Amino acid sequence: MRNFTYYVPTEVEFGKDTEHKVADLIQKHGGHRVLVVYGGGSAQKSGLLDRIYKRLEDAGLEYQSLGGVKPNPTVDLARKGVEQAIAMKADFILAVGGGSVIDTAKGIAHGNANPGTDIWDFWTGTTNLRQSTPVGVVLTIPAAGSETSASAVLTNTEIGQKRGLSSEFNRPVFAILNPELTFTLPLYQVACGITDILMHTLDRYFVPEEDNETSDALAEALLRTVIRNGTIAIKNPQDYQAMSELMWCGSLSHNSITGLGSRGDWAVHQLGHELSAKFDVAHGASLSAMWKFWALYVYQVNPRRFARYARNVWAVDAGRDDEQTALASIEATVAYFKSLGMPTNFKELGIGTLGDAELDELAYRCTYFGARTIGNFMVLDQKKIRDIYSLANQ
Ligand code: NAP
Ligand code: FE
Repeated sequence: MRNFTYYVPTEVEFGKDTEHKVADLIQKHGGHRVLVVYGGGSAQKSGLLDRIYKRLEDAGLEYQSLGGVKPNPTVDLARKGVEQAIAMKADFILAVGGGSVIDTAKGIAHGNANPGTDIWDFWTGTTNLRQSTPVGVVLTIPAAGSETSASAVLTNTEIGQKRGLSSEFNRPVFAILNPELTFTLPLYQVACGITDILMHTLDRYFVPEEDNETSDALAEALLRTVIRNGTIAIKNPQDYQAMSELMWCGSLSHNSITGLGSRGDWAVHQLGHELSAKFDVAHGASLSAMWKFWALYVYQVNPRRFARYARNVWAVDAGRDDEQTALASIEATVAYFKSLGMPTNFKELGIGTLGDAELDELAYRCTYFGARTIGNFMVLDQKKIRDIYSLANQ
């Protein structure tokens, strides 16, 4: 087991009607002037935003709001939010929505606490993030896990780059998880969310380290739970029990607990981010379109690891032959994505067939213009990244 720090300070309020506690929680965490951040309209339409505003007013909290966050959120809107937050002297940022809204709120929080610094500098690492403003979350979709994660992903449309920032300042101070708030989700978003939850665990599970009994066992239990309840939720997205499990798994899947003691891999997320940056495809869809080709490319590094995944997660076993069992786990995973209606290659993702120059460009961008490799299970350089994109393109 490698050394690790585990510090997850997010206070989780889970269950029916828990959004009613929003004002108490903001006050408990020191908020007086609140910038409420939301998306493209679902929280307005469902009446959730009005219920929240009412609670803030009843508690005597000052607030303003900023809507219009889109999936694959942009640094531009976050910058606009920073200006608004500074102008209103905000001391608390409240995100009402999913990963896109939460990550925008995190960006605003960082900019608000560091006036004069362009927030993109935190994402590129040019400037170290040393302080932020508290962020609280009312979650409306089980997916990204940003409600408890140390990560925030924004897209810089000027340079066409989607990039994650990993920092302990990204952990929200509270997260309200009411599964009933997900009942208005379109099926496609439910499926994208299930995929992302699985991938946050799989991107931590396929690593060179095999001496993490606790983390591996937690990961396998979480994967089985998401697979079983995902099948129920995709048939009936208003199944409270199934959505409860998905919502809690979404938070646990990305709060670090399933990967303690190892470095994580994250190649599939990086491969997917380039597709979202270029084609604006949904995050979950970018992952399901890549996973099969990444898995087929890398599994021979350690077939035993994939075979363990087959046996413990899918209850699939091709006898003593780890290689065959490994392949069976890849088939089972891809069949599951298909059962959710998720794309499993570029064509299904709706981006058609790419030309050689486009594949070169994608691979180059994925290395941050030659500055990095990705992955740990197998370290992928630009050529290997290009190979994997090319497989997904066929
Ligand atoms: P999202 O992009 O926040 O939302 C997806 C869509 O679902 C939006 O159109 C949204 O509409 C809609 N929606 C959300 N809740 C709804 C509800 N209850 N009813 C109806 N529609 C609803 O989805 P997400 O998957 O949570 O977030 C994806 C983003 O998070 C990506 O940019 C991804 O890269 C990032 N991400 C971040 C982390 C992290 O740790 N920070 C981890 C993984 C992924 P409205 O806009 O109208 O609400
Ligand atoms: Fe993700």
